[in-house]
Amino acid sequence: MLLLSLESHHGWISSDAYWITTGGLSLKGGDQRKKPALGVEERERERERLDRRGQRKTMKVIEKINAASKEENQVLFSFEYFPPRTHVGADRLLQQLDRMSAHSPAYWDITWRDSAAKLSLEMANVMQNIFSIDTMMHLTCTKMSIETIDHALQIIKSQGIQNVLALRGDPPLGQDKFVKAEGGFESALDLVKHVRNKHGDYFGVTVAGYPEAHPDVPRNDDGLPSSEGYQNDLVYLKRKVDAGAELIITQLFFDTNIFLKFVNDCRQIGINCPIVPGIFPISDMRGFLKMTSLCKTKIPSEITAALESIKDNEEAVRAYGIHLGTEICKKILGHGIKTLHFYTINKEKPTLSILMNLGLISERKVSRPLSTRQEDIKRMSSKLKKMLG
Ligand SMILES: Cc1cc2nc3c(=O)[nH]c(=O)nc-3n(C[C@H](O)[C@H](O)[C@H](O)COP(=O)(O)OP(=O)(O)OC[C@H]3O[C@@H](n4cnc5c(N)ncnc54)[C@H](O)[C@@H]3O)c2cc1C
Repeated sequence: MLLLSLESHHGWISSDAYWITTGGLSLKGGDQRKKPALGVEERERERERLDRRGQRKTMKVIEKINAASKEENQVLFSFEYFPPRTHVGADRLLQQLDRMSAHSPAYWDITWRDSAAKLSLEMANVMQNIFSIDTMMHLTCTKMSIETIDHALQIIKSQGIQNVLALRGDPPLGQDKFVKAEGGFESALDLVKHVRNKHGDYFGVTVAGYPEAHPDVPRNDDGLPSSEGYQNDLVYLKRKVDAGAELIITQLFFDTNIFLKFVNDCRQIGINCPIVPGIFPISDMRGFLKMTSLCKTKIPSEITAALESIKDNEEAVRAYGIHLGTEICKKILGHGIKTLHFYTINKEKPTLSILMNLGLISERKVSRPLSTRQEDIKRMSSKLKKMLG
């Protein structure tokens, strides 16, 4: 995904989907008679209990997902952020993280830009160690030599971070083609291999998956990837998993059937790890159009029609984005996929509204008072501002 020009961009399906019940909605479940449905607050307590069970400061995301899969009623969710670009953005992001941490996301992640590597590293540290939520740092090969990659991995290791999203990365700003850095890697596959060779199983390694194939894959007249390109992309994804990746997070999508087919296609070729759907809550027309055009995302005609009639009304677009996000998540949960990854684009309301609609978080926590971390937050804010210049 072409993160650089956009500021940001940003489950797993059980082989025999079993039905779960979430607070606000009733979904298919293996044996609903075994346990009554949990209320929102019980669900939150369950999530917190699951967190504590590790009895460790940090946990690999894959371990959490595997543990949750054994719990009948457990749904996990995660939030993606990008590093701040301005002083105001730094303050807003820190305050937002403080509020969002109250909802016990299974983990959260911070994107990587070669031009802001230090900020990503510092944000990863803050997210893991000030807010105490397991953090996944994205790491790309763009303009990175093996030495700088090793340096970044060593830093996060020393911060106690155990999760990496290994990516090739988008081309640097102003370029349209990815070029391997001198002494660097060509693809995410190389990076996965390197992390495993150098660090064994210390890191939980995640990779990107593309339900509509990577945007560089040639498209047919209907805008969908060629069948050969799609298959090659799947085979390549399997190579990343075979090389040591344990988890896949997908590119955003708006046609849930395309995502479900992708999961099924992955299973057919022997990709058995959890596949987490990347959910993009639409919050404004400009961002939506930019993202979907960069990612070459198919937009179902009913979504185009619905947005066309409200496109000049920002409030209505946001409300529709929340409604659509909720429906997409309900359908995914209904297929037994119990982890949701939100591309928050550093906004909190759309994601929280979807989670509330799904009965996964309680309003009580949305409006809770400030935490006791205000001194740490102030300190971090001045450090980030110094780095931003
Ligand atoms: C969840 C998620 C998070 C992201 N976060 C960031 C971020 O923080 N920063 C950022 O800059 N970008 C990010 N991106 C965007 C990503 O960097 C771009 O999509 C990039 O163009 C490809 O990265 P990749 O890791 O998917 O590449 P790769 O897995 O290396 O693949 C890229 C393409 O090349 C093909 N390919 C590569 N090597 C081979 C090979 N040896 N044989 C055959 N085919 C091959 C693949 O099939 C695929 O089409 C993210 C994307 C996703 C889905």
